[in-house]
Amino acid sequence: MNLEQFYQRVINPPPPWRVSRVAISDDCTRVDVWLEHDSGYRFLCPECRKPCPTYDHTEERVWRHLDTCDSQTYLHARLPRVNCSEHKIKNGYFPIAEPGASLTSKMEVLCIRQLLACNRTNASELLGVSWDILQGVQTRAVKRGLERRGDAVPEKMGIDEKQVFARHKYFTIITDIAGQCVHDVIDQRAIDKISPWFEQRRDSLDAVKTLAMDMSAGYASVAGQYMPSAEICFDHFHIMQVVQNAVDKTRKDEQAAMDDEERKAMFASRYLFLYGRENLPEKHKDRFEKVKAVAVKTAKAWAIKEQIRDLWSGKLSEEEVSAFFQKWYWWATHSRLKHMISAARTLKRHLGGILAAVRNRISNAVTEGLNNKIESIKRAACGFKNKEAFRNAILFHCAKLDLMPSMS
Ligand SMILES: [Zn+2]
Repeated sequence: MNLEQFYQRVINPPPPWRVSRVAISDDCTRVDVWLEHDSGYRFLCPECRKPCPTYDHTEERVWRHLDTCDSQTYLHARLPRVNCSEHKIKNGYFPIAEPGASLTSKMEVLCIRQLLACNRTNASELLGVSWDILQGVQTRAVKRGLERRGDAVPEKMGIDEKQVFARHKYFTIITDIAGQCVHDVIDQRAIDKISPWFEQRRDSLDAVKTLAMDMSAGYASVAGQYMPSAEICFDHFHIMQVVQNAVDKTRKDEQAAMDDEERKAMFASRYLFLYGRENLPEKHKDRFEKVKAVAVKTAKAWAIKEQIRDLWSGKLSEEEVSAFFQKWYWWATHSRLKHMISAARTLKRHLGGILAAVRNRISNAVTEGLNNKIESIKRAACGFKNKEAFRNAILFHCAKLDLMPSMS
């Protein structure tokens, strides 16, 4: 078996393509493989996939392919241009690489696997592919995945804002709660900026049965306009944010009024009040008791916060949930803690949506899990050059899209 035959076997290009020549560099770090096709073959128009006569050929093009042992391997070919009666002169369909790609589809599959498994710096180093090229792979993968998925929308939809850069730059994250993934990412959070996304999917939005969101009025107008029959749910994650903020503000006020010695006892106590009752590590228990004895108001706010969590315990029936809330509301509004009173009133105003979330079992696990994942993508990338790149990375890692190039 000579070199050409060997590469014909291992690359196995689909007909009419065949290996015509192979060159190995003197230091054996690079292999170049030329592909040719027999004359007279009718290639497919890339638009309509009809076989068409060949018009002419492009200049020679090169694609990086999977390595041969340690040698980077490149495929070369002149692409036929076809003359389609409908679409005129086009590059003929080339099954080995996608239009505009500098890698073969098999190499793109490897890059996508690496990008999913490790961060982009490591992937770039392991593959010997520049980050710019990997970014192109990621962008094409997401575009492909979104096109394959089409305009179908999730039945249980979540909508949430996410700060992506300093100075008030936000994304709106649309989640598929049942599918436990991000559905889409829209630049900005202002209603006029996000409306086109909903407008474009107007006909599909009837499928949305529940819509989970935070209690700010922002997204409510989108819901009213585009998903009037969806049941609005204010989920655990966002309600706990409101109550937790009230604990934090109470602590700040209380700490500001303390003398030096008391303030010393409060050192780095913020994180203690973030714990749920059952999650407080053993090693912090003594200190937490001491802090609570000094910060009496904050301790009370924390206890009120802890109690509301039982709403999502799953142990209460629908009637019990309502009665439970009334009892909690009375306690919170009689606590003489102004931030907690204000938080309780906010919850009361949104009670219908809170009860709907409990009834529909919209838990915070998905929203919180995805939120954490997005944060870790941001950290691993050490900041993104632009919002488009960050949006692509979120969809690449969190949207469960079918990312791989087709190999036929
Ligand atoms: Zn055509």
